[in-house]
Parts: sequence; C-alpha cells; structure tokens
Amino acid sequence: MSTQHDNPAETNGTEVPVASPGAAAGTEGRAPTQPRMASSVAAGGADGRRNIFDLDRSSLEDFFEQELGEKRFRAHQVMKWIHHRHVTDFDGMTDLGKALRAKLEERAVVHAPEVIFDKPSADGTHKWLLGMDAKNAIETVYIPDKGRGTLCVSSQVGCALNCQFCSTATQGFNRNLSTAEIIGQVWVAARHLGNVPHQQRRLTNVVMMGMGEPLANFDNVVRAMSIMRDDLGYGLANKRVTLSTAGMVPMIDRLGEVSDVSLAVSLHAANDELRTRLVPLNKKYPIAELMDACVRYALRKRGTSVTFEYTLMKGVNDQPEHARELVRLMRAFDRAVQMKDAAKVNLIPFNPFPGTRFERPDDLAIRSFQKLLNNAGMIAPVRRTRGDDIDAACGQLKGQVTDRTRRQAAFREQLNRRQPDERSDRPDANTEAGDAAA
Ligand code: SF4
Repeated sequence: MSTQHDNPAETNGTEVPVASPGAAAGTEGRAPTQPRMASSVAAGGADGRRNIFDLDRSSLEDFFEQELGEKRFRAHQVMKWIHHRHVTDFDGMTDLGKALRAKLEERAVVHAPEVIFDKPSADGTHKWLLGMDAKNAIETVYIPDKGRGTLCVSSQVGCALNCQFCSTATQGFNRNLSTAEIIGQVWVAARHLGNVPHQQRRLTNVVMMGMGEPLANFDNVVRAMSIMRDDLGYGLANKRVTLSTAGMVPMIDRLGEVSDVSLAVSLHAANDELRTRLVPLNKKYPIAELMDACVRYALRKRGTSVTFEYTLMKGVNDQPEHARELVRLMRAFDRAVQMKDAAKVNLIPFNPFPGTRFERPDDLAIRSFQKLLNNAGMIAPVRRTRGDDIDAACGQLKGQVTDRTRRQAAFREQLNRRQPDERSDRPDANTEAGDAAA
C-alpha cells in the first residue's frame, strides 16, 4: 500500500550513519556471509529445497521436528543466525553439529533477494531495488530519523488497485510476494545497517506501505510480520509494525483476528464521490463501511489508534471544505471508539512523478489545510519529503530500471503521444480506473 510514502515516518531529517553494503557487522565478531543470489526467492531453490525465509518460528520448528527429525529448539538457533547475525550459509552456523548442517544443506536454503540497485540519499534515506526473480523487482526504502529508523516494505510486485495518484499503479500488477520475499527485504536492510535486535537497533519500525496492497496478500504478509515481531526475528513491538491498506474491509476484520499490528488507512478523501475517483476500491468498500471496519479494529485492540493517510493534491482534495469533511469523519471515529485522538491524520504533500496529472499544493495551502485540522483540536503532522535525489515516489525507481508490464507500457505510450507542453500538465495517467476494485 503505497501512500506516496517517500517518508513513512514523520521526520526531522536526522541522518543516521549507515554501513556500506556488505559491511554489516554480525554478532560475536562474525562477518555476515553474502546472500545467495537466487533465481527465485519465492521458490527457495529450483531443486525443491525449502527457503527458510518462508518460515516463521512455529513453521520452522515443525520443519525441524517433522521433516528433519530434530529437536524444535534447533529452529531457534537457525533463526538467530539468519535474522540477528545475517548468516545464510549453514556452514557458518557453528553451534549446529556437522551432521545437522549437512542435513540442512541437503533439505533447505536461505535465499535472500538480489540487490539490483542500492541507492543512498544525501539525507540518509536509502532505497534498494531488489530482484525477486528474473523478471520481477520491487523497492524497499529505509528512512532514518531521530531515535528511530523506519523501513518501508513492499508486499506485491506492482499493484492492481489503480489508485489514481500512485506511481506503482501505473505499472499494473504482476504477482504477490512470498513470505521470503517480504522478510527478505527486512533482512537486506538489517544486514546493510548492521542491525542487531536488542543491541544495536537501527531498524526500529516497519511499515507495510511499499508497493502493493498488503491485505491482498494476506497470509504471506501476516507470516512475515510475525517474524518481524518475533524476538528470534527482528524483535519489533506490535505498535512498531504498521500495515497500510487502501481499505479492503473484510481483510481488516481478518487482520484484527490474527494480529496486533498498527493499522493505517490510505484515505485521501472524506466523501465517497471524490474518494472513488482517487481510490477505485472505494466503490466496493465505501467510506462508511471502511470506517466501521476501522472502529472494529480499534475496539478489538483497546487503546490503539488508527492512522489515516491523506495525500494532499492541488485543487483536488486540499480545499477548506475537504478539511472540514475530514474533521467530521475523524471526530465520528473518535466518538465510536470512545477515545480522544483515536484517529490520527498524516498529511502527505503529493510527490509528483513523470506523467502524473496531479500536483503538489504550495506550502501555504498545505499549512492552511493543516491549520484547519489543528484548530479543530486534531494533531495532523505534515510529512516532509525525503530522498528527493533517489526518486522518492513509490514505484519510480523500479519503473525506471526494470518495469515492463503492459499497463506501464501503455502509460508510457500515452505519455509520449502527448504534446510536450501537455505532459507536465494534465495527462490522463490511468485508463483502467476501477478494474481492480471490481
Ligand atoms: S495503487 Fe496500490 S500501491 Fe498504489 S496507493 Fe493504491 S494500493 Fe497502494
């Protein structure tokens, strides 16, 4: 669920030094081994061996017990080697006996995504283009800030939901990512940063806000989030893992049944007519149904708030009447969950990408919109754009480097047909509105 997520965290721009690629320190003085570059992370190996990245704690324990005939606690040792020390070669897992290491080599692999492109920004933001197989690549972005580092993780290759202001949407949908491909993004970043859970924590938050709609890839996302929150994985607290959705109502309820992560909703408009134009999924799950699902989620997890992302687009949803509508909607949410400030709003100035028909409002308009919310007693931070020099808008880097989907080809062709003076004005970015929501 990309929400123009150049900076998922509200940031002040503090730069956290990052290690050079491949130089991340493991624990106990051990240098991490290089990842194996697989032809397909999802498949694990062409030879049918299990990719351990696909398994959370309980499924890895089952694998050891049922498929290897070993004690379940061996799974814990292997998880620590992989997620804490960034070791992927079984030979390097020195507290396992030689026979077990040989057995693992025969039956399993640890395949990480391939780093195709590794792009640091002058402001400390870091973006990776990661190859998932011979044809598919996705983006992962790390945003450091004072006292925390947030990783924005993708859940799908492309996206089918076709939100009209989204760069990823122009690329169409290719496929879901496997658990290995989702947690592999965290592993690549953690390894690069030298992150060690509970000791040297540079990766403090994960937002499922990259390419794709995470709730459309439910099982893999939930399993990957379980590894993120596991002490044997990345040890992140529930509130530090956030799933952002365009509003797949039934899946929000399902998420509430199985997980305690933070919920964010990509809202962008507080009336159905406008929201359906911006987020076609709204036709299927209108605002009233979406808000009811958010209320159920918040009530199930007493005391938790829900974040509503609002991308500000010039002349589209940035007028005073839009702010007043938003206030009414948020206040109704607070009343329904009987908690002050249960609804949090993040204002995100639109981050333009080539060919888009939308524009970023000027600073005065952004501040005026924010002031209207503040005057109504709402806290509504404006996200500062980060990583401008590394193609900040979600999907841009991937689009430039590898994208070959039909929707992207059509989008580019359409753009090229226009007169040059029209291109930055109001080209009709997407012609398939509503296809995903049907
Ligand atoms: S099109 Fe997909 S990736 Fe883009 S904002 Fe919508 S749900 Fe997110």
